[in-house]
Amino acid sequence: MIPISVVRLGAETESLVLDVIRSGIIAQGPKVAELESRFAELVGAEHAVAVNNGTTALVAALQVLDLEPGDEVITSPFTFVATLNAILEAGATARFGDIAVEDFNLTADSVRENLTPRTKVLMPVHLYGQTADMTALGGIAAERGLALVEDAAQAHGARFEGRGAGSFGTGCFSFYATKNLTTGEGGMITTGDADLADRLRVLRNQGMRARYEYEMAGHNYRMTDLQAAVALPQLGGYAGQLDRRRANAARLAELLGDVDGLVLPQQLPGREHVWHQFTVLLPAEHAERREQIIDALRDEHGVGSGIYYPRTVFDYDCYRDREDVVVSDTPVADDVVRRCLSLPVHAYLSDDDVVTVATALRAVLS
Ligand SMILES: *Cc1c(COP(=O)(O)O)cnc(C)c1O
Repeated sequence: MIPISVVRLGAETESLVLDVIRSGIIAQGPKVAELESRFAELVGAEHAVAVNNGTTALVAALQVLDLEPGDEVITSPFTFVATLNAILEAGATARFGDIAVEDFNLTADSVRENLTPRTKVLMPVHLYGQTADMTALGGIAAERGLALVEDAAQAHGARFEGRGAGSFGTGCFSFYATKNLTTGEGGMITTGDADLADRLRVLRNQGMRARYEYEMAGHNYRMTDLQAAVALPQLGGYAGQLDRRRANAARLAELLGDVDGLVLPQQLPGREHVWHQFTVLLPAEHAERREQIIDALRDEHGVGSGIYYPRTVFDYDCYRDREDVVVSDTPVADDVVRRCLSLPVHAYLSDDDVVTVATALRAVLS
């Protein structure tokens, strides 16, 4: 079986985790600090603040903006539910632009259509490991005085015109088990703003500046040294992992390039994709049998695949009648959710595995 994602942590990780256990410092300590400084370097951001998961990273990034009820955040309709849940937990109202089929990310035009006097934050999602168009979105944010919070949960080390995802505004990353870099559960917030980083550090630790001196109503958003020790050894090998992912993506594109009606993912000019997912759009006539295609890939060819995501993020009963979830037309996302299918692209695929994946998809579509 070729799984859609693989977690493989080696001897170096085992020994570093053991060091932490033996050190007696198992909550937030020096390993978290080391992970923060090395991650800031990867992103090209001045500051990085580690937290306990990617959802909290988003929540905290919004909480420090002191939003009022009714303040609006514009985000992508095609994302993991955490993006929307974070907006709601921060007490803001969510609005949705639409995506471009070329990069699956929020478009500047659709953002402009959703701007209101209450808009306070733009929250693009760098889906599958490729950034949104940060020139266009950053331009709107600057022109309107909006905060820019990037959901970079899938985009560790991705770049847009040489700049790292998470370095344009406040960057929010996830280290969940299946992400490109992992601590099991974990997250990171990056920023170039020293004051914001300071507020995030205080918020993360019960709003406490010094022992029993509280300056805001905070929370426990802390990461542990045990978690940081799981991620640290991955950083040294990450460039090599990205080379593998990129080579696998290029080979898949080559092997699938002539399949009629199949839309392949692209790396757009000026962007460095980190291939968290390799997501194709099935030919329209195959969309209704997507579940059967997934079953056949698995049962007949031993190939894992996944649907990220099967519906637009607001299209669930639990969000339907909420005043803080404002839905607009999202024709591109509506089409993409019906046709998307993610194939294995991870760094542990052999050359033969990549051929197996492509051959299997060709077979089930023919
Ligand atoms: C994984 C993910 C999150 C949430 O991260 P967790 O660490 O699972 O809380 C948020 N947004 C996107 C796009 C994600 O893929």
